[in-house]
Amino acid sequence: MSASTDFDCIVIGAGVQGSFTAYQLAKKNQRTLLLEQFVLPHSRGSSHGQTRIIRKAYEEDFYTHMMGECYELWAQLEKEAGVKLYRQTGLLVTAPEKGRSFQLIKNTLQRNKVPIVILTPDNFSQHIPNVHLSEGDGALVDVTAGVLYADRALRTVQSQFQKLGGVIRDQEKVTDVKPGAVVTVTTSAGVYQARSIVITAGPWANTLLGHTGLHLPLEVQKINVCYWKEKVPGSYDLKRRFPCFVVPECQETDVHIYGLPSNEYPGLMKVCLHIGKKTDPDQRDQQSDRSDIALLKRYISRCLPGLEPEPAVVESCLYTMTPDRHFVLDRHPTYKNIVIGAGFSGHGFKFGPIVGKLLSELALGEVPSYNLSPFSVARFQGKLQSAL
Ligand SMILES: Cc1cc2nc3c(=O)[nH]c(=O)nc-3n(C[C@H](O)[C@H](O)[C@H](O)COP(=O)(O)OP(=O)(O)OC[C@H]3O[C@@H](n4cnc5c(N)ncnc54)[C@H](O)[C@@H]3O)c2cc1C
Repeated sequence: MSASTDFDCIVIGAGVQGSFTAYQLAKKNQRTLLLEQFVLPHSRGSSHGQTRIIRKAYEEDFYTHMMGECYELWAQLEKEAGVKLYRQTGLLVTAPEKGRSFQLIKNTLQRNKVPIVILTPDNFSQHIPNVHLSEGDGALVDVTAGVLYADRALRTVQSQFQKLGGVIRDQEKVTDVKPGAVVTVTTSAGVYQARSIVITAGPWANTLLGHTGLHLPLEVQKINVCYWKEKVPGSYDLKRRFPCFVVPECQETDVHIYGLPSNEYPGLMKVCLHIGKKTDPDQRDQQSDRSDIALLKRYISRCLPGLEPEPAVVESCLYTMTPDRHFVLDRHPTYKNIVIGAGFSGHGFKFGPIVGKLLSELALGEVPSYNLSPFSVARFQGKLQSAL
């Protein structure tokens, strides 16, 4: 196979992060190739499904800061493509009022002047019907939060990328990466060369990085995506302005529980636990643990009395977790023209546009728009293994 050098940059992996990175590179007039191992669209990675939550409610300032610009980039894409990708619903946060998570989120939102509404036990049920607020819990609403139409967003950004002259080759698995001043990428169908590459391979990040001698401390988890039936249809409906919600800690668990109003499957509300069990991404369905569902049933019986406490539909998705739950957005420690976007730890979708911008800046050797030290490879010092 002869090598093709028709590209300035090659992006490996057409999930949300790779697709936005490729789009940003094409916007900067870079001849860009986006490679994907499966036929698009597919449901084997992390970016499939109809909806994701978008919010500024975070414990850390750096995420809240980045989301400021990120909302604008989502709106720009909507305008450019003439497609609606975001619907404002607000995000309800409930947790022990004096607990660490609630205080951190509230303080971050207030410090960054994000519009919020604080609810009290007296007025809570008037604003949020059909939800039980536990004694001692605080409640606030991040007003600008809402729902992103995820698979529509993916289709849109990929098609905008193609309109800018970008090339997508799906069903083309990358089987080797050879670092150098020009990087050589071998796939199941050909060989390509480019001045820089970006690896956004989601749960397969370490398989790809293995070709470059790097192994990051990532754990892939299977998430049971659970939909629960409304006892009275419409009780938790988006059209009735029911919000998204996050419960950072509660009686049942100190792992986040989150939910989205019923919308994608009428009469069913998505409520999930923000953790799963370790899995091999190529053997996802071999992982059959349902202990999260048992926990969710207890939470739903207690706090969401308008739902049947038995999931009606359970789908699957993958998280790629880092030890501190922060992303990896960095250049390869040895090869500066290999850029890594990985470890999105179950909360990366909303950041797609800004991640794409940052990874494109790294690929072009530009100074990134934000301080990327929370996302560096160097923070794993001592946990990095050589893969060679
Ligand atoms: C159930 C669930 C709920 C979530 N909810 C939210 C939410 O509400 N809000 C939010 O912001 N985020 C949420 N997330 C997280 C978010 O969806 C992920 O962080 C994001 O989708 C990660 O995208 P990615 O591009 O890194 O990975 P992926 O989407 O997995 O993309 C990686 C791609 O690389 C391809 N690839 C891998 N290896 C190769 C190879 N060798 N050759 C070619 N291609 C390759 C894969 O096939 C895949 O398409 C959720 C995730 C899940 C699973």
